[in-house]
Amino acid sequence: DADRALAMRSLCSIAAILSEHRDELTKLDMPIGDSDHGINMDRGFKAVVDLLPSLEDASASEILKRAARAVISHVGGSSGPLYGVVLRKLSAAVRREGALSIQSLADGLEAGLAGIEELAGGSPGDKTMIDAMVPAIESLKQSLASGIDAQEALQLAADAADGGAEATIPLIARKGRASYLGERSVGHKDPGAASFALCMAALAHSA
Ligand code: ADP
Ligand code: MG
Ligand code: MG
Repeated sequence: DADRALAMRSLCSIAAILSEHRDELTKLDMPIGDSDHGINMDRGFKAVVDLLPSLEDASASEILKRAARAVISHVGGSSGPLYGVVLRKLSAAVRREGALSIQSLADGLEAGLAGIEELAGGSPGDKTMIDAMVPAIESLKQSLASGIDAQEALQLAADAADGGAEATIPLIARKGRASYLGERSVGHKDPGAASFALCMAALAHSA
């Protein structure tokens, strides 16, 4: 059905943008991490794409669930389980709501954010991927309230995520490897926030 095709197209689009920006994400992880974020994300989402041909009969929700598992086992690094929980919550939201929509995306990301906070103990302002997720979720909710079309909603959410990632630059890292640097983490964009913004841009392109 249409949702299954959209789920596959979205995951392929995410994999493509992460592959394209692999070196850039890895470079962001150099000054405040261990120089592997682009490599990790590219490896994980390549594994997702490799899985898709075996999921011809799966529903959109099932595809997202299997993608979550692939990401958890192939990303490696702390970002693997965090992106994994987001994909799992998206899968659950799509199953519950019976459709891949702006509503299920907003609900799934919001549950995913709660899952990350529970799993890794981060909060907004800690200079992590959470700082790109929060404005994207807020934007999607505003779009739902104002009733604009899905394509426009995705583009606004992608822009909001990008703004959130940029806004991590002046922050002091309080979670993840970058937190070991304390104030020396100031002046660098968080790699996980940057990769999340790229994922949202990919969704805006593949809708
Ligand atoms: P690792 O740090 O294990 O090498 P990656 O480089 O793949 O893993 O991912 C680093 C990214 O993961 C960070 O930039 C940050 O956005 C995210 N991250 C790490 N720890 C946390 C946390 N506790 N809460 C939220 N996000 C986190
Ligand atoms: Mg790293
Ligand atoms: Mg690492």
